[in-house]
Amino acid sequence: MARRKYNPPDYYWIDELLTDEQKLVRDSVRRWMEEHAVPIIEEYAHRGETPLHLIPGLAELGLFGPYIPQEYGGAGLDQISYGLMMQEVERVDSGLRSLCSVQSSLVMYPIYKFGSEEQKRKYLPRLAKGEIIGCFGLTEPNHGSNPAGMESTIKDAGDYVILNGTKMWISNAPFADIAIVWAKDEEGTIRGLIVERGMEGFSTPEIKNKWSLRASATGELVFNEVKVPKENLLPKAIGLRAALTCLDSARYGIAWGAIGAAMECYDVALQYSLERKQFNRPIASFQLIQKKLAEMLTEITKAQLLAFRLGQLRNEDRATPAQISMAKRNNVAMALWVAREARQILGAMGIVSDYPIMRHMMNLESVITYEGTHEIHLLITGYDITGISAFRG
Ligand SMILES: Cc1cc2nc3c(=O)[nH]c(=O)nc-3n(C[C@H](O)[C@H](O)[C@H](O)COP(=O)(O)OP(=O)(O)OC[C@H]3O[C@@H](n4cnc5c(N)ncnc54)[C@H](O)[C@@H]3O)c2cc1C
Repeated sequence: MARRKYNPPDYYWIDELLTDEQKLVRDSVRRWMEEHAVPIIEEYAHRGETPLHLIPGLAELGLFGPYIPQEYGGAGLDQISYGLMMQEVERVDSGLRSLCSVQSSLVMYPIYKFGSEEQKRKYLPRLAKGEIIGCFGLTEPNHGSNPAGMESTIKDAGDYVILNGTKMWISNAPFADIAIVWAKDEEGTIRGLIVERGMEGFSTPEIKNKWSLRASATGELVFNEVKVPKENLLPKAIGLRAALTCLDSARYGIAWGAIGAAMECYDVALQYSLERKQFNRPIASFQLIQKKLAEMLTEITKAQLLAFRLGQLRNEDRATPAQISMAKRNNVAMALWVAREARQILGAMGIVSDYPIMRHMMNLESVITYEGTHEIHLLITGYDITGISAFRG
């Protein structure tokens, strides 16, 4: 069955709430992704490769640093535009959205927010153009949900610090030119620093055999007595809160991105159900299929409203980390559920890559774990409600 034109669901006419600029940005990303990413993404995912040749085009669209000011090479857009961009990229693949999220929110944002003027001028314009790619090293083999327990250390050695430790599950690591790394100093304070590929003792082995995010490279960051010049320490990245602030920005983008994956799965399933006939009737005529479609659209609409309101709060600089947790958790779980329902509507066709459903479903299994797991985000909401942390000792 040939796929008809994409018909993005917008049941509550949220389009009417968007500015002309926001719609223009969304539509340009949608067009570009359809032309350049849709035709190749299945093949790259099958091969387990990141389509690096897309990087200049993604940069040209402003997907690297959408909300970073233009004076540093960013696109200077508002938070709803940023969200819509992530939605359009993740509609095609969560791995491509991960590439953009990491570059924007976990590499450019910490340099912009916590870096010196010199660091901003040195790195941000090149990151925005995609001339260099970054990664973000917080998770360690023994410390995922509890990054405060990290074992990576920096030791003062005059003009430089000596970095030791291992970071695990790091997106973009195998090809990144720079890494934003979090490590404890001799007083036990967490610091952020910029480590560059080529520094002696720094390596980035790839983690192979993933069933999820196959078009996004994941690796380790291994630091063995790496001498990092002190000028690479981000002067204002002090304490775990600094790292978590970057995650807030990325999680906000994920809350929008996941909607894109869900919108795509819903649209594919709807079109399929109208054309596929069983018992001499389109399967869309059966009540149980309609129940799935109606519930999918309801959940997508709720997620769209959540993301839109959160975007308004982000634009006013008022969104709290707990509000962002709620949206990330809800919207990713929603997208994973929608992908599973869509897969069932397609029957056996749901498992082959003629349709993008199974790839989205497998991708979302990572998205529900990274940037704070589904469980931890729930406990953040619980903490916000009660004032009692159920996850920390
Ligand atoms: C594809 C991929 C890409 C990633 N990219 C990056 C990256 O670029 N940079 C980076 O730093 N990290 C990255 N991560 C790591 C990711 O953020 C971690 O996997 C995540 O934080 C969870 O840590 P963990 O896997 O060690 O699980 P664990 O922390 O070991 O958790 C295992 C399970 O226990 C649950 N759990 C843990 N503590 C509690 C508690 N107190 N109460 C209830 N349940 C609990 C968790 O919810 C989970 O279900 C990536 C992960 C993946 C899969």
